[in-house]
Amino acid sequence: MIKRYPTKKIYVGDVAIGGDAPISVQSMTFSKTRDIEETVNQIKRLHFAGCDIVRVAVPDFEDAYALKEIKKQISLPLVADIHFNYKLALIAAKSVDCIRINPGNIGSRERVKEVVKACKERNIPIRIGVNCGSLEDKFEKKYGQSAKGMVESALYNIKYLEDLDFTQIKVSMKASDVQRTVEAYRKLRPLVDYPFHLGVTEAGTLFHSTIKSSIALGTLLLEGIGDTMRVSITGELEKEVEVARAILKDSGAVKGGVNIISCPTCGRLESNLLDMVRKVEELTKDIKAPLNLSVMGCVVNAIGEAKSADVAIAFGKESGLVMRKGKVVARLKERELLDRFMQEVLDVVKEYDGE
Ligand code: SF4
Repeated sequence: MIKRYPTKKIYVGDVAIGGDAPISVQSMTFSKTRDIEETVNQIKRLHFAGCDIVRVAVPDFEDAYALKEIKKQISLPLVADIHFNYKLALIAAKSVDCIRINPGNIGSRERVKEVVKACKERNIPIRIGVNCGSLEDKFEKKYGQSAKGMVESALYNIKYLEDLDFTQIKVSMKASDVQRTVEAYRKLRPLVDYPFHLGVTEAGTLFHSTIKSSIALGTLLLEGIGDTMRVSITGELEKEVEVARAILKDSGAVKGGVNIISCPTCGRLESNLLDMVRKVEELTKDIKAPLNLSVMGCVVNAIGEAKSADVAIAFGKESGLVMRKGKVVARLKERELLDRFMQEVLDVVKEYDGE
């Protein structure tokens, strides 16, 4: 397992962030928050998809007043995303489990003080959400839209809260590209012990965001950086959670889950491998045990891969082998392979659960 940087533990509702808590997955609705029915509907979809914490935008008073009712209808911890207007934060703090602000853009110290007081009263944390595209003027002028600028902004905002004796803090520093995002988190990590919320902002559509987020978040997670994360994808809800969970699993940041090994296919293929891989993916997606499953097009590489796979298929001509831990357990026609393969998979899961 990856060794994570030791961080302070805070709570967003009943979800712990930092310390020894598992890395949580967050997402955000794209409905108008004042549209309570649609917002609740989106939050429930996210919850069902495996999201741990949900954030909603609060640009206006109508949105802020809707939070109380939204909170009643959901069970996920709720974060209010607020810019500029501290009065919205004061209303939101009465209902939600965390406020995302930048103290630097809330205005006078007196206003920030009021927000901090409201958060203290309900014992809820604040996320300092530094965004490369909206740095405070003084940092942008001095450092440009750079990782250094984000780090300086984060330190400034952290100090702002610490001076008010507030330390229930988590920090994000998002840029819309991989390099600045990674650099900013790396630079800040040794300087503070607050938990980090990872993300690449405005990362684009499903294809582009998946690539950017996998590189940036994967790199950071492998270095032990990150306590909670969001993958932002234009116009998607469930996919944000799905991709985030896959990044966590494939970077080794969480234990368990199925790793599917399948070949890209080539001219040697004489069976319908694609159909088989899709079915295996679907049938095994909820398995929590840490399994390696291999589905390969021919014996050229299949035997080698099967050695490290818990269960494997090696296709031949409209037929194939089912293997378990590298040993052949059946030689069957193509149409019979899936059932036998799944029998073996469930058997391995049973063995794992019985351990
Ligand atoms: S396993 Fe066989 S079919 Fe698949 S890519 Fe390799 S050589 Fe081609």
